[in-house]
Amino acid sequence: MAWRRRPETPCEIVVKEILVSSDAGPECAEACPTGALRVEGGRLVADPGLCVACIACMALCGPGRVRVLTDWRCPGGESVEAG
Ligand code: SF4
Repeated sequence: MAWRRRPETPCEIVVKEILVSSDAGPECAEACPTGALRVEGGRLVADPGLCVACIACMALCGPGRVRVLTDWRCPGGESVEAG
C-alpha cells in the first residue's frame, strides 16, 4: 500500500445545508454555540453560514428533526461527500 503525503493545507469541512423538520422545536437551538440555529419570532431559523458543524443540535434533537449536511473542501478542489 502506498502512503500518501500529508497535504500542506488540510481539508476542511463545509456546511452545505441545515434541514429542520416541522416538528423541531425551539429547544433544538439551545445547544447551538454560534447562532446558526436560533429562534426568531418563535420559529427556528437555520443559517448555514454561521454553522461550524459541531452537530450539537443533532445530538440534542436527533437527526430526524435537525440534520446538518456537510461536505469536505480539499486542496486542489477535490470535494468528497461527507453526509
Ligand atoms: S451543527 Fe452546531 S453550529 Fe451548526 S447549527 Fe447545529 S449546533 Fe449550531
